[in-house]
Amino acid sequence: MKKHVADLLAKTFPAKYTEMVISKHNVAFGVCPHHLLPVIYRISMAYIPTEKVLGLSKLSRLARLIARGPRLQEDLTHELADILHEQLLSQGSAVYIEGLHMCMAARGVGAHEARLVTSGVRGVFLELATREEFIKLVVAPQTTVL
Ligand SMILES: [Zn+2]
Repeated sequence: MKKHVADLLAKTFPAKYTEMVISKHNVAFGVCPHHLLPVIYRISMAYIPTEKVLGLSKLSRLARLIARGPRLQEDLTHELADILHEQLLSQGSAVYIEGLHMCMAARGVGAHEARLVTSGVRGVFLELATREEFIKLVVAPQTTVL
């Protein structure tokens, strides 16, 4: 798995601009490590490049790769934020994840309560204004079910 991630990150482009790059609502599948039941994630990620950028489809693949297998949603959130900050040498990164946990849904909890929200920020996203801009963008209402 580590090798796939390294391969993905090896293919970057020189950054032409240093605005926020954002990839919203990527669907990925994982497994809850406590109950070994599926989790459906909706992952939004952002970073502000310095010298290199990752293609948008690669961002989505990165999220799916990291999400795969038994892993806490909190760990997934932090791992993605770290990669987008440290390995891409970005000015900062932000990750916002909504997880629909089947272990919670199966106990008859309503769909809203069965959803866990986690977020993580690094670098310049620690500044409140940047963080708020990101959150506002990713929680904007949309029409799909997930
Ligand atoms: Zn669980």
